[in-house]
Amino acid sequence: MTGAAELCYFAAAPLFILALRWMSSPETARRAVFSAVVAMGLAIGGTLLQPTIHTFTWIGIAVLAGFLVGVPLSRVPLTAVPERTGLSQAFGGLAVALVGIAKYYLWLQEGVLTPFKMGVIGGEVILGCLTCTGGLLAAAKLAEMIPTRPITYRGQNIVSFALLAIALALAGLLIYNPFMSWAFPIIIAIGLIFGVMLILPIGGADMPTVISFLNSYAGLSAVALGFVLENKLLIVAGALDGSSGFVLSIIMCKAMNRSVTNVLFGAFGSVQAAKALGEKKTAKSATSADAAQILAAAGTVVIVPGYGMAVAQAQHRVRDLYELLSKKGVDVKFAVHPVAGRMPGHMNVLLAEAEIPYDRLVEMDDINPEMPQVDVCLVIGANDVVNPAARSDSTSPIFGMPIIDADKAHTVMAIKRSMNPGFAGIDNELYYANNTLMLFGDAKAVISDVVKELSGENAS
Ligand code: NDP
Repeated sequence: MTGAAELCYFAAAPLFILALRWMSSPETARRAVFSAVVAMGLAIGGTLLQPTIHTFTWIGIAVLAGFLVGVPLSRVPLTAVPERTGLSQAFGGLAVALVGIAKYYLWLQEGVLTPFKMGVIGGEVILGCLTCTGGLLAAAKLAEMIPTRPITYRGQNIVSFALLAIALALAGLLIYNPFMSWAFPIIIAIGLIFGVMLILPIGGADMPTVISFLNSYAGLSAVALGFVLENKLLIVAGALDGSSGFVLSIIMCKAMNRSVTNVLFGAFGSVQAAKALGEKKTAKSATSADAAQILAAAGTVVIVPGYGMAVAQAQHRVRDLYELLSKKGVDVKFAVHPVAGRMPGHMNVLLAEAEIPYDRLVEMDDINPEMPQVDVCLVIGANDVVNPAARSDSTSPIFGMPIIDADKAHTVMAIKRSMNPGFAGIDNELYYANNTLMLFGDAKAVISDVVKELSGENAS
């Protein structure tokens, strides 16, 4: 390696570490992104300076292809960020797997496949392939192109682990004798199938955690790739990615009261589905005029925003509602659940964009003790994060996940377009409760109507 390349790598490694450190706070997050971009630039620059690179044609074509795919991908709306992340992980996994496959056949021909090289190629290809199909399936689930419910069958875990054991055994066989090349395509196929089997049994509500697990797998596969390419920076960056993804997964599991094994292997969705179909209940609906009257008469109102508010882009109308009610002397607060919407901090971003004062936003743990004293809880396009089944129904896929106790308020009003379930694909008892009124319609339209009623525009 040239001295300049060494220098680039040497500067990039601490910048990656600092980027992770700064990412942990909103105040330093911009600096974190800048530092990560500089580090990545140095990493790419350092690699291009390697004397082993003689032609840049293919690299240029790859960069162009990356731009063509990457630019449209970066322009997705905020609500689609999780599936975009899933797709990025899938592409990352694919790239790692393809390099591993190419190196296997190249080194096999050259006769330089040592047991160590074969071992890391085996690990790299299995991890890369499972991250590729796992990321694709996670993206499809998050985009709701396939059912978000856990898809299970009897003995699923045994089948999955038997397959993984076969892949590892075949990799072991190749370490012993790399010329048994018939085994290599089977390892690739099992890696791809295993990624699908890993994501299928995971329910919608657990997807945020799964995305960070996939991140961790992508990082580990990059470490293996670093060993294969003998690239120290790739090992460092991959280890940072892998370990931070793993730590984030553990933190998210704790926040959602989940055990790691429950997220990865627990799947109780089918039980809940049968139960949901068997029961016919009715919900009470109200008009915007009713809602305006109830809100105006309240002393305290807690607004719980969710994914539906983001879809409807209703945050500016919500601010109008907040201002009108505050002027009338109503104490209005916003209860923000950590996984409301489709990305961490989604609701905070939207409410900040609408310039709702930050001190009006209350975290779940702080608002829940107040809920029994709240006059009206207005749920705007939130569903899973206020589903009481998480507290009371041990067969529910979201059982144990902390929720905002909307049902404990004196009156609940829920805005959504239909009785369709939320992301976890399960029914919500809250909508059938005696103290709940449904306001059916698009969140922006309904809140606009309520605002008009409250400001007396509809009367004139
Ligand atoms: P949910 O997905 O549970 O529910 C959203 C509700 O909004 C739906 O029931 C839908 O009902 C309603 N809705 C959709 N569009 C509109 C609209 N235009 N106007 C009014 N209502 C609308 O959202 P939550 O925020 O409660 O929960 C988030 C879920 O997403 C959790 O399960 C979480 O685990 C998961 N998740 C979270 C991520 C994160 O990082 N925050 C990432 C990935 C997944 P209807 O169709 O009847 O209108």
